Amino acid sequence: MSLKPKDKLHIVFFPFMAHGHMIPMLDTATLFAARGIKATIITTPRNFPIFARANETGHPSIEIEVFRFPSLENGLPEGCENLGQAMKSIEMAEKFIKSAAMLRQQLEQYLEKSRPHFLVADMFFPWATECAAKFNIPRLIFHGISFFAHCTKDMIMVYQPYKHVSSDEDPFVIPYFPNEITLTRSQIPEDLMKHEQSELKKRHEKIQESELQCYGVIVNSFYELEPDYVDFFKKKLGRRAWHIGPVSSCNKSLKDKAQRGGGEASMNEHECLKWLNLRKPNSVIYICFGSLANFIVPQLQEIAKALEALEYDFIWVLRDDRIAKNEEWLPLGFKKRTQGKGLLIGGWVPQVLILEHEATGAFVTHCGWNSTLEAISAGIPMVTWPLFAEQFYNEKLVNHILKIGTPVGAKKWKAVHSIEDVVEHNDIEKAIKNIMEGDETQAMRNRAKNLKEMARKAMEEDGSSYRDLCSLINELRDHYTP
Ligand code: UDP
Repeated sequence: MSLKPKDKLHIVFFPFMAHGHMIPMLDTATLFAARGIKATIITTPRNFPIFARANETGHPSIEIEVFRFPSLENGLPEGCENLGQAMKSIEMAEKFIKSAAMLRQQLEQYLEKSRPHFLVADMFFPWATECAAKFNIPRLIFHGISFFAHCTKDMIMVYQPYKHVSSDEDPFVIPYFPNEITLTRSQIPEDLMKHEQSELKKRHEKIQESELQCYGVIVNSFYELEPDYVDFFKKKLGRRAWHIGPVSSCNKSLKDKAQRGGGEASMNEHECLKWLNLRKPNSVIYICFGSLANFIVPQLQEIAKALEALEYDFIWVLRDDRIAKNEEWLPLGFKKRTQGKGLLIGGWVPQVLILEHEATGAFVTHCGWNSTLEAISAGIPMVTWPLFAEQFYNEKLVNHILKIGTPVGAKKWKAVHSIEDVVEHNDIEKAIKNIMEGDETQAMRNRAKNLKEMARKAMEEDGSSYRDLCSLINELRDHYTP
């Protein structure tokens, strides 16, 4: 297969079925499509609207290929096609990941039939490298995490520094890093540190293997944000990687931003903006823990107590619409007392629009990388409340390297929240106050605004991410040019 100058490069994007993976992969595909690449996204019937809506907003068009998702085969309810629906228990989440692995055959059939030039597949599909190789199609990998997290993950796996401390709370240093970064064993998944093999450990090893074998890594980040770790990843760890973010900035119009994630927001963009427009700059706290995290009721009660005690206005998003509607768990009279001061929303909100609004002054976040980078792009300081995945690493980047956040004090890596993990209202209040009116507030806001500006410039013509995407596309074309 070779390309003539006028031929379009065809790249297929295959995101894992979770909002935190599909949203940035769609933005990434959009960026490629805007540079004249033919982009196809693979998804499943229930996730189709997330991608279809993007085609309605005037973006460069992206083709959508639909695979059947085998939920029933692994005992998942029919229609369970998004990790968010399966996060009720570890067992259900594992079943979901198994079902996603069964997409392999459909991917092979599709690649054989359509013969794209490249495949960009999610890290959750380590087998995609082998699949694509069958048809001589190079595979790139998309993790959706920062360079800093990539480096931390690798150094922990290779050097196992957690072995040199005697308790789960003792800090250990990440070896060879440009900054002194410490973590504790309780901030890393337990299974990863066990001597014996576990499902999680096996999965991580396979992901690592596929990352080393594939063509390269696409990273949603920008050079100026974490220059030491871009260099560390590429030069010290010898990885081929390109930074092309923040990819969310490909959404320019109000409609673009409002429809991200499917556009079925519980509070639409107009209501949200109307509410925010009535507030003073930097006066509102926005609380949202991404698309997967489900807090137990005692934790929600602590958040409610903190918000009531604090004098700031707030937008608080709860994943579960039923919990948001049912007031029984809230302190008696909470909704009445916070009327006019706060919005409690169940379901989905247009996050980028809220973060970009001048009234928003702080973001209480679980440190999912998309949320973190969206806050950085909007110049908003954060209260960091990591829960699982690589979120504890992102917390370190935000607080210790970028210095634009305050930790709430979350201590333990847990995919499913339980009573021992509850953070008390006093700690929540303290962390929020520290961001809104602490000694460091102004300095933090200045640093955050600086990063916002750098993020904007990185995506402009001749900015660092713009150039890296250019060089990636050129390299991909060269691969097929005789
Ligand atoms: N998001 C949103 N509205 C919501 C909740 C989440 O638009 O109500 C978006 C958010 O902007 C981000 C993504 O969903 O792009 C969540 O990704 P992240 O990596 O932050 O967390 P995850 O959901 O993967 O834990």
